[in-house]
Amino acid sequence: MSTETEIKRAANILANAKRAVASCGAGISAESGIATFRDPGGVWEKLNPAEVGTSDGLIRTLTTNPHKLLPFFIELLETFERAEPNPAHLALGHLEQMGILRTVITQNIDNLHIEAGNTDVIEVHGNGFRIRCLSCGCTEPKDRRQLIRETLQKAYEIEDFTIENIASLMPPCPECDAVTRPDVVMFGEAVQNIPQAFNAARSCDVLLAIGTSGMVYPAAYLPFEAKQSGATVIVVNPNENAFSPVSDVYIPMRAGEAMGKIIDDLKQTAF
Ligand SMILES: [Zn+2]
Repeated sequence: MSTETEIKRAANILANAKRAVASCGAGISAESGIATFRDPGGVWEKLNPAEVGTSDGLIRTLTTNPHKLLPFFIELLETFERAEPNPAHLALGHLEQMGILRTVITQNIDNLHIEAGNTDVIEVHGNGFRIRCLSCGCTEPKDRRQLIRETLQKAYEIEDFTIENIASLMPPCPECDAVTRPDVVMFGEAVQNIPQAFNAARSCDVLLAIGTSGMVYPAAYLPFEAKQSGATVIVVNPNENAFSPVSDVYIPMRAGEAMGKIIDDLKQTAF
C-alpha cells in the first residue's frame, strides 16, 4: 500500500479513537537535534558507555579521568538547550487536545512531550531536568532551560575537575541540601514506571509506535501487548523495526512529517 494511503488509514483510525497511546523512542527526539545515543554521531561514538553510562563507571571516570567528562557534559547540555518540540511532539499535543490521545509513553529524557502540551507522560528512562537527591531520594522537576543555563554557567567556570566541583553543578536537594543527580535511568539501573506503561498499552484502543525500533525494553513489548489486548497498532518509523508482525498500519517516514500529515488529514476529514 502507498504511504499516502497508509496516512489516510491512520487518520481514519485515529478519528475514531478515544484512548490512544503513543509509545515514543529516540527517533522522535532526533528531529529536535538530539542525536540518538546509539546512532552514528551519537554520544556512544565519543564515549564508552562503560565509562559514563553506568553510575559506577561515571564515578570511576570522575575519579580517574575527569578531564574527559566536562567537555562531554557541556556538549550534551548545549544540545539539550537548543532542542525544541518538533512537529511530531506538537502533533501528539494536538491529538490529546482533540480527545483522541490519552497517554504518551516515552524513552526520551528531554521533557519535550510535556513542553508540547501532553499531560499524561510516562517517562520510562526518567527526565533529565528532574533532580533526584542522592541522600533522601526526593525528586523535583526543574525548568529545562533555566536548569541548563545555571549548570552551564557553573560548568564554564570550573578549573579543577574535582568530584566536588562536578557534583556542585547540580542544584542541592530542596529538602536536605545534599547532592543531587538528574533523575535519569543509566545502564544497569531499573527502568521507571513499567506497570503504568504496560497498563496504558493494555487499555488503549490505538497504539502509535513512533521512532522506536523495538530494540529497547519496555518499548519493544508495548505494541505486542496492545495488539494482544485488541488495539490497532500504527507504526511510524523510516527504518526497519521489530513491529511488522503486529503493525496494522506502517508509515515508513520520519516522525515529524508523518504526524504532521496525519493531523492535517484528521482536521480535514473528521473535525
Ligand atoms: Zn534530600
